[in-house]
Amino acid sequence: MNLILLGPPGTGKGTQARLIADRLGALHVATGDLFRNAVKQGSELGARAKEYMDRGELVPDDVTIDMLFDRIDQPDAQSGVIFDGFPRTLQQAEALDKALAGKGKAVDAALHITVPDDEIVRRLSGRWLCPDCGAIYQEQTQPPIKAQLCDDCGNELQQRDDDRPAVVRARLEKQRPPTEMLDYYRGQNRLVDIDGAQAPDDVTRDLLAEIERATTRISN
Ligand code: ADP
Ligand code: ZN
Repeated sequence: MNLILLGPPGTGKGTQARLIADRLGALHVATGDLFRNAVKQGSELGARAKEYMDRGELVPDDVTIDMLFDRIDQPDAQSGVIFDGFPRTLQQAEALDKALAGKGKAVDAALHITVPDDEIVRRLSGRWLCPDCGAIYQEQTQPPIKAQLCDDCGNELQQRDDDRPAVVRARLEKQRPPTEMLDYYRGQNRLVDIDGAQAPDDVTRDLLAEIERATTRISN
């Protein structure tokens, strides 16, 4: 079984991917993690990738695809992979299909976790810091007792520049799965939308139900 998890940042995609991989006994492959490991190991690939990552840009397709294929050629990837952070472009999607077809395999479903933009912005811009003691709060999950004020020292909380709604919106625009890639999977009836605005457990439940449907549809 090979599944792709798609979605913008702020949808809990990585957490869900790990959970699903665990449940299904599949391998979780996150290209972001592969790149970060390559950077840590000081490899040539890591050095190339780092230039792009530092600028918040996508690493070029050829580099990304080579690295991903090396990973999925390994023995632990043969019984199934949950792809997280890949593909991010139409070219990557097509390359993945070709590579899997060469092994008699295919992407069973592209699971697209959707959350309305306003909700994503609310989630990602909900972080507030105390400039004095460094305490961190989260509007939704860990709010201060008194709005805008630090529980420990009573100082007014501040927001980091890159957590401001306008900046978050710009980042979101850059990281959204491209329409042509979504259309590619949709055109082949492989795109499944999952409501990511629900509680995390409900998102997991819907993902597992859709995976069940996708895989029984294929074996019938
Ligand atoms: P983020 O940390 O933004 O949630 P990831 O951990 O998935 O994203 O990836 C970190 C960085 O690695 C990205 O910003 C990008 O530079 C690079 N990257 C990851 N996956 C891909 C991909 N499929 N294609 C190109 N670049 C990628
Ligand atoms: Zn404080």
